[in-house]
Amino acid sequence: MRFFDRALGNGRSIRVRWTDRTDGNLAIDEAMPELEQRRRDVTDRPWVWLRQVHGERCIDLDEVGIESATGAEADAVVTAQPDLALAIHTADCVPIVLWSEDGVLGAVHAGWRGLEAGIVESCIELLRTKSSEPISAVIGPSIGPECYEFGDEDLERLSAKFGSSVRSLTNDGRPALNVRCGIRNELGRLNVTIVFEDDTCTSCDHQLYSFRRRGESGRQALVLWSESA
Ligand SMILES: [Zn+2]
Repeated sequence: MRFFDRALGNGRSIRVRWTDRTDGNLAIDEAMPELEQRRRDVTDRPWVWLRQVHGERCIDLDEVGIESATGAEADAVVTAQPDLALAIHTADCVPIVLWSEDGVLGAVHAGWRGLEAGIVESCIELLRTKSSEPISAVIGPSIGPECYEFGDEDLERLSAKFGSSVRSLTNDGRPALNVRCGIRNELGRLNVTIVFEDDTCTSCDHQLYSFRRRGESGRQALVLWSESA
Protein backbone atom coordinates (compact mmCIF):
# COMPACT_ATOMS: atom_id res chain seq x y z
CA MET A 1 0.00 0.00 0.00
CA ARG A 2 1.31 3.46 -0.86
CA PHE A 3 0.30 6.71 0.79
CA PHE A 4 0.22 10.48 0.55
CA ASP A 5 -0.56 12.70 3.55
CA ARG A 6 -1.00 16.45 3.71
CA ALA A 7 -2.02 18.83 6.51
CA LEU A 8 -4.83 21.25 5.71
CA GLY A 9 -5.11 24.71 7.22
CA ASN A 10 -8.24 23.80 9.21
CA GLY A 11 -6.64 21.42 11.72
CA ARG A 12 -7.42 18.34 9.62
CA SER A 13 -5.17 16.21 7.47
CA ILE A 14 -5.70 14.58 4.11
CA ARG A 15 -4.94 10.86 3.89
CA VAL A 16 -4.63 9.09 0.55
CA ARG A 17 -3.93 5.36 0.29
CA TRP A 18 -3.67 3.14 -2.77
CA THR A 19 -3.46 -0.61 -2.73
CA ASP A 20 -1.74 -3.23 -4.83
CA ARG A 21 -2.04 -7.00 -5.18
CA THR A 22 -0.47 -7.61 -1.77
CA ASP A 23 -3.41 -5.79 -0.13
CA GLY A 24 -5.84 -8.20 -1.81
CA ASN A 25 -8.64 -7.79 -4.32
CA LEU A 26 -10.77 -4.74 -3.41
CA ALA A 27 -13.34 -5.28 -6.22
CA ILE A 28 -16.84 -4.43 -4.97
CA ASP A 29 -18.23 -7.89 -5.77
CA GLU A 30 -15.64 -9.73 -3.71
CA ALA A 31 -16.92 -12.04 -1.00
CA MET A 32 -17.62 -10.73 2.48
CA PRO A 33 -16.24 -10.80 5.11
CA GLU A 34 -12.85 -10.89 3.36
CA LEU A 35 -13.59 -7.67 1.50
CA GLU A 36 -14.66 -5.93 4.72
CA GLN A 37 -11.38 -6.96 6.31
CA ARG A 38 -9.32 -5.67 3.36
CA ARG A 39 -11.18 -2.37 3.56
CA ARG A 40 -10.54 -2.11 7.30
CA ASP A 41 -6.85 -2.75 6.65
CA VAL A 42 -6.86 0.50 4.64
CA THR A 43 -9.13 2.45 6.99
CA ASP A 44 -11.95 1.55 9.37
CA ARG A 45 -13.94 4.63 8.41
CA PRO A 46 -17.16 3.96 6.45
CA TRP A 47 -16.28 3.30 2.79
CA VAL A 48 -18.20 5.14 0.08
CA TRP A 49 -17.82 3.20 -3.17
CA LEU A 50 -19.55 3.38 -6.54
CA ARG A 51 -20.76 1.02 -9.27
CA GLN A 52 -18.49 2.62 -11.85
CA VAL A 53 -19.96 2.69 -15.35
CA HIS A 54 -17.62 4.95 -17.41
CA GLY A 55 -20.22 7.72 -17.43
CA GLU A 56 -20.45 11.37 -16.46
CA ARG A 57 -22.58 11.15 -13.32
CA CYS A 58 -21.12 12.65 -10.15
CA ILE A 59 -22.92 11.99 -6.85
CA ASP A 60 -23.44 14.75 -4.27
CA LEU A 61 -23.25 12.68 -1.11
CA ASP A 62 -24.35 15.58 1.08
CA GLU A 63 -27.58 15.77 -0.88
CA VAL A 64 -28.44 12.07 -1.21
CA GLY A 65 -26.86 10.70 2.00
CA ILE A 66 -24.27 7.98 2.49
CA GLU A 67 -26.73 5.09 2.04
CA SER A 68 -27.87 6.22 -1.41
CA ALA A 69 -24.41 7.34 -2.47
CA THR A 70 -22.71 4.06 -1.60
CA GLY A 71 -23.11 1.60 -4.45
CA ALA A 72 -24.73 4.19 -6.75
CA GLU A 73 -24.12 3.91 -10.50
CA ALA A 74 -21.75 6.80 -10.96
CA ASP A 75 -18.10 7.58 -11.61
CA ALA A 76 -17.46 10.37 -9.13
CA VAL A 77 -18.58 11.45 -5.68
CA VAL A 78 -18.16 14.64 -3.65
CA THR A 79 -18.77 15.33 0.04
CA ALA A 80 -18.12 18.00 2.65
CA GLN A 81 -18.77 15.48 5.45
CA PRO A 82 -15.77 14.51 7.53
CA ASP A 83 -14.86 10.95 8.52
CA LEU A 84 -15.94 9.15 5.36
CA ALA A 85 -13.52 7.31 3.08
CA LEU A 86 -14.11 7.81 -0.66
CA ALA A 87 -12.90 4.86 -2.73
CA ILE A 88 -12.30 4.40 -6.46
CA HIS A 89 -11.58 0.92 -7.84
CA THR A 90 -9.53 0.38 -10.97
CA ALA A 91 -7.58 -2.10 -13.00
CA ASP A 92 -6.28 0.13 -15.85
CA CYS A 93 -8.40 3.31 -15.72
CA VAL A 94 -7.17 6.43 -13.93
CA PRO A 95 -8.27 6.92 -10.31
CA ILE A 96 -8.19 10.51 -9.03
CA VAL A 97 -8.89 11.98 -5.60
CA LEU A 98 -9.39 15.69 -5.02
CA TRP A 99 -9.78 18.00 -2.06
CA SER A 100 -10.18 21.67 -1.33
CA GLU A 101 -8.04 23.40 1.28
CA ASP A 102 -11.08 23.58 3.58
CA GLY A 103 -11.64 19.83 3.39
CA VAL A 104 -14.29 19.11 0.76
CA LEU A 105 -13.44 15.72 -0.79
CA GLY A 106 -13.98 14.23 -4.23
CA ALA A 107 -13.07 11.01 -6.03
CA VAL A 108 -13.22 10.19 -9.74
CA HIS A 109 -12.98 7.05 -11.89
CA ALA A 110 -11.69 8.24 -15.26
CA GLY A 111 -11.08 5.96 -18.17
CA TRP A 112 -11.01 7.50 -21.63
CA ARG A 113 -14.79 7.22 -21.93
CA GLY A 114 -15.40 9.04 -18.67
CA LEU A 115 -12.79 11.64 -19.52
CA GLU A 116 -14.45 12.28 -22.87
CA ALA A 117 -17.89 12.36 -21.23
CA GLY A 118 -16.66 15.10 -18.87
CA ILE A 119 -16.54 13.25 -15.54
CA VAL A 120 -13.46 15.14 -14.31
CA GLU A 121 -15.08 18.49 -14.99
CA SER A 122 -18.42 17.40 -13.43
CA CYS A 123 -16.68 16.41 -10.22
CA ILE A 124 -14.67 19.62 -9.95
CA GLU A 125 -17.70 21.77 -10.73
CA LEU A 126 -19.66 20.06 -7.95
CA LEU A 127 -16.73 20.43 -5.55
CA ARG A 128 -16.59 24.15 -6.34
CA THR A 129 -20.24 24.57 -5.34
CA LYS A 130 -19.11 23.55 -1.82
CA SER A 131 -15.77 25.36 -1.60
CA SER A 132 -14.06 28.33 -3.17
CA GLU A 133 -10.63 27.24 -1.88
CA PRO A 134 -7.86 25.89 -4.15
CA ILE A 135 -8.21 22.23 -5.17
CA SER A 136 -5.45 19.61 -5.09
CA ALA A 137 -5.35 16.14 -6.64
CA VAL A 138 -3.56 12.82 -6.29
CA ILE A 139 -3.61 10.46 -9.28
CA GLY A 140 -3.22 6.71 -8.77
CA PRO A 141 -1.60 4.14 -11.08
CA SER A 142 -3.13 3.40 -14.49
CA ILE A 143 -2.21 1.86 -17.82
CA GLY A 144 0.75 3.55 -19.49
CA PRO A 145 0.77 4.59 -23.15
CA GLU A 146 3.42 1.98 -23.99
CA CYS A 147 0.76 -0.69 -23.27
CA TYR A 148 -2.35 1.11 -24.47
CA GLU A 149 -2.85 0.59 -28.21
CA PHE A 150 -5.66 2.77 -29.46
CA GLY A 151 -7.64 3.32 -32.66
CA ASP A 152 -6.71 6.26 -34.87
CA GLU A 153 -10.23 7.69 -35.06
CA ASP A 154 -10.66 7.71 -31.28
CA LEU A 155 -7.18 9.23 -30.88
CA GLU A 156 -8.05 11.97 -33.34
CA ARG A 157 -11.15 12.93 -31.40
CA LEU A 158 -9.46 12.78 -27.98
CA SER A 159 -6.42 14.77 -29.09
CA ALA A 160 -8.68 17.48 -30.52
CA LYS A 161 -10.36 17.78 -27.13
CA PHE A 162 -7.56 17.11 -24.64
CA GLY A 163 -4.38 18.11 -26.49
CA SER A 164 -2.02 16.41 -28.94
CA SER A 165 0.08 15.09 -26.02
CA VAL A 166 -2.52 12.32 -25.56
CA ARG A 167 -1.13 10.76 -28.76
CA SER A 168 1.59 8.27 -28.07
CA LEU A 169 3.08 4.97 -29.24
CA THR A 170 3.13 1.48 -27.81
CA ASN A 171 6.39 -0.36 -27.20
CA ASP A 172 6.10 -1.86 -30.68
CA GLY A 173 5.31 1.45 -32.38
CA ARG A 174 1.53 1.29 -32.75
CA PRO A 175 -0.75 4.29 -32.09
CA ALA A 176 -1.46 4.59 -28.36
CA LEU A 177 -3.39 6.74 -25.93
CA ASN A 178 -1.66 8.53 -23.08
CA VAL A 179 -4.79 8.82 -20.97
CA ARG A 180 -2.80 10.22 -18.03
CA CYS A 181 -1.76 13.15 -20.21
CA GLY A 182 -5.39 13.79 -21.01
CA ILE A 183 -6.20 13.79 -17.28
CA ARG A 184 -3.27 16.11 -16.50
CA ASN A 185 -4.31 18.52 -19.25
CA GLU A 186 -7.90 18.50 -18.04
CA LEU A 187 -6.93 19.11 -14.39
CA GLY A 188 -4.63 21.93 -15.50
CA ARG A 189 -7.37 23.53 -17.56
CA LEU A 190 -9.66 23.36 -14.52
CA ASN A 191 -7.00 24.97 -12.32
CA VAL A 192 -6.41 21.93 -10.09
CA THR A 193 -2.91 21.32 -8.68
CA ILE A 194 -1.62 17.76 -9.00
CA VAL A 195 0.38 17.22 -5.80
CA PHE A 196 1.28 13.58 -6.48
CA GLU A 197 0.97 11.16 -9.37
CA ASP A 198 1.87 7.48 -9.31
CA ASP A 199 2.77 6.73 -12.91
CA THR A 200 3.33 3.01 -12.41
CA CYS A 201 1.81 1.12 -15.35
CA THR A 202 -0.88 -1.36 -14.27
CA SER A 203 -0.11 -3.50 -17.31
CA CYS A 204 3.70 -3.60 -16.88
CA ASP A 205 3.75 -3.99 -13.08
CA HIS A 206 2.52 -7.40 -11.97
CA GLN A 207 1.95 -6.07 -8.46
CA LEU A 208 -1.10 -4.28 -9.89
CA TYR A 209 -4.32 -5.66 -11.36
CA SER A 210 -4.74 -5.19 -15.10
CA PHE A 211 -7.85 -6.08 -17.08
CA ARG A 212 -6.31 -5.35 -20.47
CA ARG A 213 -3.03 -7.18 -19.93
CA ARG A 214 -4.09 -10.12 -17.80
CA GLY A 215 -7.91 -10.16 -18.10
CA GLU A 216 -8.16 -9.79 -14.34
CA SER A 217 -11.40 -9.02 -12.52
CA GLY A 218 -9.45 -7.92 -9.43
CA ARG A 219 -9.25 -4.23 -8.56
CA GLN A 220 -6.91 -1.98 -6.59
CA ALA A 221 -8.39 0.89 -4.62
CA LEU A 222 -7.46 4.56 -4.29
CA VAL A 223 -8.94 5.86 -1.04
CA LEU A 224 -9.22 9.40 0.37
CA TRP A 225 -10.34 10.68 3.74
CA SER A 226 -9.56 13.48 6.13
CA GLU A 227 -9.02 13.25 9.85
CA SER A 228 -8.18 15.49 12.79
CA ALA A 229 -4.47 16.18 12.55
ZN1 LIG B 1 3.02 -0.58 -19.46
